[in-house]
Amino acid sequence: MLRLKLTQFLKVETNVHILTRFRCVFLESDRTAERPNNEEIDNYKLQFNDGRLSTETKSISDILRALVILKLCTIDTIVDNSEKLVAWCKGIFGTQFYEKIIKATIYKQFVAGETEQDVKFIASNLQKFNINCMFCVPTEDVSSDNLFMNAHDVEDLYKTNLNLMLGCVDLTASLGCYAQSKITPVISSDVMHDVADLLSDHIVSHESRPSELSVATWSNALDGTEANLLPECPNASNKHLKKALKRLDILANRAQGQGVKLMLDAEYTYLQASIDLIILALQQKYNRHIPVIYNTYQCYRKDTPARIQSDIELAQKHNFKIACKLVRGAYMEYERQRAAEHGYEDPICDTIEDTERNYKHAMDLMLSQVAQGQAEVMIATHNEDCVKYGVKRMHEIGIKPDDGSVLFAQLYGMCDHVSYALGKAGYIVHKSVPYGTVDSSILYLLRRAQENKSVMARTAKESGILLNEMKRRLWTSFGHA
Ligand SMILES: Cc1cc2nc3c(=O)[nH]c(=O)nc-3n(C[C@H](O)[C@H](O)[C@H](O)COP(=O)(O)OP(=O)(O)OC[C@H]3O[C@@H](n4cnc5c(N)ncnc54)[C@H](O)[C@@H]3O)c2cc1C
Repeated sequence: MLRLKLTQFLKVETNVHILTRFRCVFLESDRTAERPNNEEIDNYKLQFNDGRLSTETKSISDILRALVILKLCTIDTIVDNSEKLVAWCKGIFGTQFYEKIIKATIYKQFVAGETEQDVKFIASNLQKFNINCMFCVPTEDVSSDNLFMNAHDVEDLYKTNLNLMLGCVDLTASLGCYAQSKITPVISSDVMHDVADLLSDHIVSHESRPSELSVATWSNALDGTEANLLPECPNASNKHLKKALKRLDILANRAQGQGVKLMLDAEYTYLQASIDLIILALQQKYNRHIPVIYNTYQCYRKDTPARIQSDIELAQKHNFKIACKLVRGAYMEYERQRAAEHGYEDPICDTIEDTERNYKHAMDLMLSQVAQGQAEVMIATHNEDCVKYGVKRMHEIGIKPDDGSVLFAQLYGMCDHVSYALGKAGYIVHKSVPYGTVDSSILYLLRRAQENKSVMARTAKESGILLNEMKRRLWTSFGHA
């Protein structure tokens, strides 16, 4: 409906009047989206300013929608109050109309759709540009916040979440893509918190851990036979852990059986030590020959290079392949606030430059393992300098763009100019693509927008590219070449 009206509007109104109205904005956009220069074209064929490439399949209404949504996502007041705004919108317009509005706007920008057909359509469109998909399905976290749920309901929710995640692996397999998931939807955050507390003195060192908290012990416990992994904790926690590890084992097993690589997300620092323990346990079991399970390292953490080094040594010792996606980290504000409230040292780098250095250090560590055939790495960032650094190091080390063990990734609906440039230059690049119903996706999207406020702020260049493309199309429709 909205699309029809917009098209009509643009057909009827494509005249000097419109051009004059857009002129001042276009002039501004000319400054943001610079023209390609020789250095960039020579930069391993990466050309981040080719607006025609990343907008080729977009209609005028797609471009307009992207411009508006990306702009709104940079306004802190809107992002911070987005959950209230959405509830308000639902109250005023009623569920049906609300769904239509959301579907035509934020949902269409960032979500593949609801049905298998929608997902296949997006995947095949991206594949035309040498871009792969990494699918994820929004799932509800289960934590002590779910105060009104009894133990039986909670167990049902874990099962529902597991089935959604298994469905995602199956769908992904049928399209030859990768799958992405958090692990907290199938395990209690409270138990994870307890385990992380037990690990607090051993975060970097695997050697110093008590044997019941070693990766080897947890890897053996994945089949659900080990009853008492946490002798100091209540019986209920041990029972829960046993079932949760079994659920994760079923998921990893399905991924391996289907030939799907499974990327597991990094979350809050206060949970991460236990997430790492479980993921390393899965890697020890499933990454023997070909990496199936990917961990995630957040480079905004001060201790990340040391943790990567320690995990590499563990993998060498126990003969499994290390694989990970490298991100900067999405929860900076929360982490800093929590550290201040609880009076412990802020785990996050003091400056953005320190995060930058950590990211490059992490890339160097992982790429040298890749060069030895011992690892795979996904460079998950929208940051062009960082992508260029990764590409430069690949060339220096002698890793071919299509080698398959170095991947790049960006979020669906964001920084297309980076993804399309990588795809065109022959690198293996993924879009992280959520799919699901409007209801299940909306809260997930709003939380991601809140967590990724800083990346939203870097969409100025993308907006410039989109505006320039709109200018070009309007200009062409006037008969100008
Ligand atoms: C495919 C994909 C998967 C992802 N998976 C995860 C995940 O599992 N877990 C997760 O936490 N995040 C994840 N993210 C989000 C990611 O961590 C970043 O929040 C997001 O990508 C922005 O970082 P950037 O490198 O793209 O952009 P940039 O704009 O270059 O970097 C912004 C980031 O720099 C850091 N930063 C900003 N200011 C400062 C400062 N003053 N001091 C220190 N550091 C600072 C913050 O991490 C901020 O998010 C994922 C992103 C992608 C693309």
